[in-house]
Amino acid sequence: MNEKDGISSVYAISLETIHTREKVLESFKNTLTHIHFRLLKIFDNEDIVGIKMDFLNDPVKSYLRDGFCKIIIDYLKEKNTYPFFCDTTNRYRDRKNNFISFYQNTICHIGGLSGDTPFNTLDGINGLYEIAREVPGSKFKKSITHLAGGLQNLDGLIVFSKLKCHNMAGCSGAIMSLGMGLAGKMGKVKLFSKTPPHVNESKCSYCRKCLHRCPVNAITVDEFSRHAFIDKTKCINCGKCVDVSKFGSITYDWDADPIHFQTQLVENAVAATTTINANKQLYINFLMEPEDLDMAYTKIDGFKGILISKDPLAIDKASNDLIGNRCRFGELIFEYAHELNLGNLNYNLHHVAY
Ligand code: SF4
Repeated sequence: MNEKDGISSVYAISLETIHTREKVLESFKNTLTHIHFRLLKIFDNEDIVGIKMDFLNDPVKSYLRDGFCKIIIDYLKEKNTYPFFCDTTNRYRDRKNNFISFYQNTICHIGGLSGDTPFNTLDGINGLYEIAREVPGSKFKKSITHLAGGLQNLDGLIVFSKLKCHNMAGCSGAIMSLGMGLAGKMGKVKLFSKTPPHVNESKCSYCRKCLHRCPVNAITVDEFSRHAFIDKTKCINCGKCVDVSKFGSITYDWDADPIHFQTQLVENAVAATTTINANKQLYINFLMEPEDLDMAYTKIDGFKGILISKDPLAIDKASNDLIGNRCRFGELIFEYAHELNLGNLNYNLHHVAY
């Protein structure tokens, strides 16, 4: 838990009170750098600071272009730290499945990233660089979570999250960015599947690629039937064979229910926050769309704006309270996150108006 007395500070910039793009950016900058709040001052000389984003497949819709990152990057560089943008690869085959494809198809096209600031995937070139972390008090028989390996090399972390609906978590924010966005491929698979993958015999082309990829020799091939087989007693559910299998010949049953998903999500998030210095973490939740900045608001249905906090639980709880019933977080998430000391459920909301 990163704030004392069981109450965390959450700073809110509301579009209801600040109407222009310039004023929103100014308030954002002042909140982060103001001597009184000391929010960015937690990062010191030579800290390597990862700025975690959910880089959208459609860069045009990205909220990054609006200059929020630049404010942070400029400040951190002035303080002689080493900021860089980071994310993890996707568990399924798409444009973000490995670092090269991720960079070429997404990062190169995003406007608003600060010029020479580098980008890296924390789970390595192909998403297989992972670290295993035990979560004390886990509800699972095996309490091991699998995180992106690069996390252990960070001195500090800034997490940008955009609040949006999610079919398993209800709503996603900072906890989702930590629990899913910083999980390794195996960690992501375990969120959605309780059981090991299986071979679709009719699709297996006997290429044997999975055989060489499996780290625990759980796969055998039958020379006669020319099919691969997975020994479920040996399989550690890492997903590496699924990654190399063509034509869906090895697949998962995505059989996780919301309770399983939310429990694993919270445990992944706890493991991620305890891997990095607890005093060098900052969370920023966007409860708005990029285009909201271009509109002058006279009346807003619910809260629109930005929240900032050092506490991932408090910021998500505050986000949930501010958006009311529009898109609720799964009930289990907050209670379990609190039980595992991810942060505080109680918060003081400071409305920022410069
Ligand atoms: S999921 Fe991993 S451990 Fe299981 S069979 Fe595939 S490669 Fe082997």
